[in-house]
Amino acid sequence: MKRVLALFVILLLTGCSSLHEHQFSDANYQQPAICTICQKEAGFPLRADFSIYDIVVNMEIGKSYLLDTVCKDDRTVSTSAKVEVVEYISDYQNENYVQKADYQWKRVVIRLSFDDDKVVENGVAINYLTTNYYNIRQFVSTYNYNFDKACYEFTVNYYGVDYSQCQLIISATDVEWQNSEEGYIKEYLLTFDFLVPTGFDGIVVGVRNAAIDASGFSYFYEYYDSEQFLLFRLD
Ligand SMILES: [Zn+2]
Repeated sequence: MKRVLALFVILLLTGCSSLHEHQFSDANYQQPAICTICQKEAGFPLRADFSIYDIVVNMEIGKSYLLDTVCKDDRTVSTSAKVEVVEYISDYQNENYVQKADYQWKRVVIRLSFDDDKVVENGVAINYLTTNYYNIRQFVSTYNYNFDKACYEFTVNYYGVDYSQCQLIISATDVEWQNSEEGYIKEYLLTFDFLVPTGFDGIVVGVRNAAIDASGFSYFYEYYDSEQFLLFRLD
């Protein structure tokens, strides 16, 4: 009788382990809600802002795109730029840059070329943007320039954790006018070096039509138009 009772208790104990009340963590941009006891998943990851606002990542490395834009000194003068992502290094090594545990550097270089005589007379206006595919408002609200470190700082959330030590170093190179067979060409190289959580795939960079009047708006999705933006994701 004692032996039967012992067996019954053991059965009861092992049977119990699957009968708990799930303790779900909050969903984040990478994962749905997950039970902390049995790892059961419920629902879906949070929806990315780029999906909510129908924002299109429309640039690939090595391809060239035409961007309709306007000149700097007279914004009624239209022109166009040839835009290319000439380099993307998803795990960028630079010994001059700070290294942080759980963070990695990513580099992307965008080239804009103008070969229009109107640009010679009226100058070039370049409007670039950087953002976060998943959470645009968090990017904007945390983005600020640190004068001591000479870089921008911002926060991204990755697997539910806020990484507040992200950095961005931007350098712009203005290549002298070059004389080609077709006429003059002016080139600009924009280099973006990002320090982000290791594995994070949400940084987006791009350029837009300089004719858009963005004053009075807080977020670019309020005046976004896929025809007037060229965007590249550092995934
Ligand atoms: Zn559970």
